[in-house]
Amino acid sequence: MEVNCEGCAGCCLDWRELLGDDDSVTRDAADEHEHEHRRHDPFAGSDGNDSSRDPLDDDPTFVALTRDKVRAFLEAGMADALTPRFWYARDDAEGVTIDSHTVAAVADRPAFFIGLRKPPKPVAPFERTAPAWLPTCVFLDPTTLQCRIHGDELFPAECGAYPEHNLALAQETECKRVESAFGGDRLLETDHDEPDGLLLGSQAIGAKLFCHPRPVDLEGIVERATAGELTCRDRAETIAVAAASSPGTLAISDHHYEQAKATILEDSGPDSESTADSWVGPAIRDWYERCREAGEAVPSPAVADAVERERGAPETPGWDTLE
Ligand code: SF4
Repeated sequence: MEVNCEGCAGCCLDWRELLGDDDSVTRDAADEHEHEHRRHDPFAGSDGNDSSRDPLDDDPTFVALTRDKVRAFLEAGMADALTPRFWYARDDAEGVTIDSHTVAAVADRPAFFIGLRKPPKPVAPFERTAPAWLPTCVFLDPTTLQCRIHGDELFPAECGAYPEHNLALAQETECKRVESAFGGDRLLETDHDEPDGLLLGSQAIGAKLFCHPRPVDLEGIVERATAGELTCRDRAETIAVAAASSPGTLAISDHHYEQAKATILEDSGPDSESTADSWVGPAIRDWYERCREAGEAVPSPAVADAVERERGAPETPGWDTLE
């Protein structure tokens, strides 16, 4: 299959705020896209189905990682890049109530994905001349709209398989949504191989869908996940369970859990500038601070050189060298 990604990155950021912000995009289109989700989320149920499970968070392009990838990010000192996704249960029978929310569960264990965070960055996708602050994948270079870890061993399998996963599951692709909102040709052909790694149903448990063995430990975390206010300690609790999971089972290794949690708390948090080797955590905190301080102003995407590159983020090649 062939896609045209230059100047897009629609599957790496949350561009819903641009709908209706452009005269060429009608409010109808904005409404049509408001509740769609980019990646088929096997735990969310069918799109358009009233009884589907909605995520607690508001990220339409959440990238779910496998357990092995979660461990690889921890080993690279990049736990700050990660965050959990929980879902509302369809009904009381399949959920566990925490912080007044009934969250979807497997065998009474709250279920969750671990994916990549999206701090606000100044980006100008879809040939816009003016940048806008948009929730953007921690690994997207705002200047080139290319992935900083493409080709790296940390590159998520799900990003490599997109949009094939959606096509294989007969779901709309982000490419088509971008085309219908902003024009252009993004999805150049729809023929695709059968993708690996869909991990549907019970295969997903412990491999991509993680189940917390102690719901009581999620008190407070569920409320903060709903409010978009997760703390470093909250993320550490869920990431450690994911890292300690066993594919195909509900088993959690206490040893791996304790070890992962200690590593994350050591590498992450507001004081980690001096302890973590990775550029990721300091850059995320800097983006949030700059966005808060900027108010209505939006800086050039080139400010990413100071926020990311000078802290050690890998460069991206630009599009000229790829043609
Ligand atoms: S990891 Fe790379 S390809 Fe995947 S969402 Fe982030 S920037 Fe995009």
